[in-house]
Amino acid sequence: MQPKLIIHGGAGSSLKTKEAIEVVRHSLYHVIDTIYTLLLKGGEACDAVVRGCQLLEDDPCFNAGTGSVLQSDGQIRMSAALMDGKYQRFSGVINISRVQNPIDLAKSLQDSPDRVLSDYGAAELVRELKTPVYNPLTERRLQEWLQERQENFERTMADVVAEKVLVKPSEARRGTIGVVALDQQGCLAAGTSTGGKGFERIGRVSDSAMPAGNYCNRNAGVSCTGIGEDIIDECLAGRIVVRVTDGLSLREAMQRSFTEAKENQRDLGAIALDQTGAIAWGKTSNVLLAAYHTGYEMGDTLEMVEEVEAID
Ligand code: ASP
Repeated sequence: MQPKLIIHGGAGSSLKTKEAIEVVRHSLYHVIDTIYTLLLKGGEACDAVVRGCQLLEDDPCFNAGTGSVLQSDGQIRMSAALMDGKYQRFSGVINISRVQNPIDLAKSLQDSPDRVLSDYGAAELVRELKTPVYNPLTERRLQEWLQERQENFERTMADVVAEKVLVKPSEARRGTIGVVALDQQGCLAAGTSTGGKGFERIGRVSDSAMPAGNYCNRNAGVSCTGIGEDIIDECLAGRIVVRVTDGLSLREAMQRSFTEAKENQRDLGAIALDQTGAIAWGKTSNVLLAAYHTGYEMGDTLEMVEEVEAID
């Protein structure tokens, strides 16, 4: 089977400059190139997803791992989930601090009887795995938080990517990363990792470590981004996957789910693959930062106008 790959680096309002678009495009294509090569060499979907998430977490441009946004109290708390479609198995961590790659913790929980851990439990896991202590804070995110503090946290979310020029509070945007892969064996996997919305209350739980934001079975895999509460209310990832499982094409499942999301005035985006090799993406927000590999070429959604697009 020809492998397929799609990744995202968040959704929100448009990037301000051509330069910003090019920076994001470059980052996304680098990851697509590396991970697609891995899939071509026979790599399994789940391993490809973990590696792709690690690379995106390590890129300070995106709000996951290094470059995560700060919460209202000035701390970084990250969440990540992995779902292996082969076994239809979900694992994840919620609100963890001081690690470089939250997706590694989600991966380590795949074979555990307790597969989603939060705060203290997740910290305990970090200790058990002897994961090195790591500070994911970047200067840009700190400045963003300091500016926000001056403005008394009027903004409900942080920026989608850490751009060079800080945006005005009215231009609230967000970011998160996600990877969905189909391997040569025809198996799917999906992973999502986030620093959260930014400026949120302590203890707030992101959709990214829930089946609403990251879901995969043998038929389809989906990773979401956008306002977590909107994604949870739509149960977007689970909804799209179930629709494909019940017989809709991926294109139809996406179209129907995004029509509903739009009617409900949600602010979100999603990337998806199905078992036949169809690739799809959709958004109700202004921009979705996603890129994909069709098996023949790479493409991206950075300047897309449509709400839903698919390559069947
Ligand atoms: N969905 C993430 C959250 O609400 C944010 C994002 O996708 O940018 O935590």
